[in-house]
Amino acid sequence: MSLWSPLLRPELSELTAYVPAEPSGIRSHLDANEAPPHPSGRIREIVARAVERTALERYPDARARALKAAIADRTGARPEELLVGTGSDELIAILLTALAKPRERAAQAVVLMPTPTFVMYRVSSRAHGIKPVEVPLDASWDLDAGGMKRAIEMMRPNVVFVASPNNPTGNRVSDARLVELLEAAGDALVVVDEAYIDYGGESLRGWRSRFPNLGILRTLSKVGLAALRVGWFDADEALVREVDKVRQPYNVSATSQAAAAAVLTEGWAEVQEQVKAVVKERERVADALRSAGGFKLTPSQANFLWVRTELPAADVYGGLVAAGILVRSFHAAGGRMAHQLRVTIGAPADNDRLLEVLTKTVTAR
Ligand code: PMP
Repeated sequence: MSLWSPLLRPELSELTAYVPAEPSGIRSHLDANEAPPHPSGRIREIVARAVERTALERYPDARARALKAAIADRTGARPEELLVGTGSDELIAILLTALAKPRERAAQAVVLMPTPTFVMYRVSSRAHGIKPVEVPLDASWDLDAGGMKRAIEMMRPNVVFVASPNNPTGNRVSDARLVELLEAAGDALVVVDEAYIDYGGESLRGWRSRFPNLGILRTLSKVGLAALRVGWFDADEALVREVDKVRQPYNVSATSQAAAAAVLTEGWAEVQEQVKAVVKERERVADALRSAGGFKLTPSQANFLWVRTELPAADVYGGLVAAGILVRSFHAAGGRMAHQLRVTIGAPADNDRLLEVLTKTVTAR
């Protein structure tokens, strides 16, 4: 009980502020699914020029017209179908602020998601007074379509979040299961979060004409531009118009709008080159770990690997930290997560260092 308890929402007592792990002596940051720096320097020049042209004394364009036009050109969406945010994190929060009406006779609105998945769906739901409901992924970390359908019938969610490729498991949800989910969702909004789609094939935005309740979430964070904090939501125009009412008018800074628009129009070839290089590294690291023995890998379509360690993940994680390499361990969740690590693909030198330490872990058993 603190001085502020009478004022604070009760949900906050179950939440903790997000603080990334920062042990000292880390040289290789392979924990946050960031891309390695762009090698050519051209992206940096494009961003610098865009920032230089920005009028610093003016507020940003509240309608983000240039940025939306650049996203529209890149994706085939119409600007009216787009909402831009300070990363997809903000868009998740905006959606949950707007779509929070409890169903008839229910005390709270419900949001449905698989588990394990990106934590912000659950955290942001709680922070908005919405009840998060989680359905475990199946044994191969794919969507349990039957379980999701039962949860939809019983819990009547307003929103269903599905990341594909999924974080932390790296795999795409199979198309057939996603179709089952979309058909069962009724009037609930199904948000397919494509944060990692640049590493994992075709976007599902083309499905929107068939499923009007489908919304697509995207971000620039995973392709080497996490510092900009720019994401977008692509959905039915009528929904976007309503949800836009709860957005802060100047939510994306003018410098980020300008930089993101410039990268999308002038620098996308470089971004894609870098994505290709990361995919190649991903396969090299995956092959090396598979042949080392002691690790099982889920086929990844993202810029990270979901690694099952024979040894407890906590021990492997500790060994990596001692060697200056930070990854994400999920051992604290227990159960089938006690042997799981999520390893971001970094620059080749970081990946080499990782492989060296991991292969030593196996031979030292
Ligand atoms: N969605 C998924 C599936 C993610 O893994 C992440 C980042 N960890 C995000 C969204 C957040 O992205 P942003 O930086 O755009 O807020």
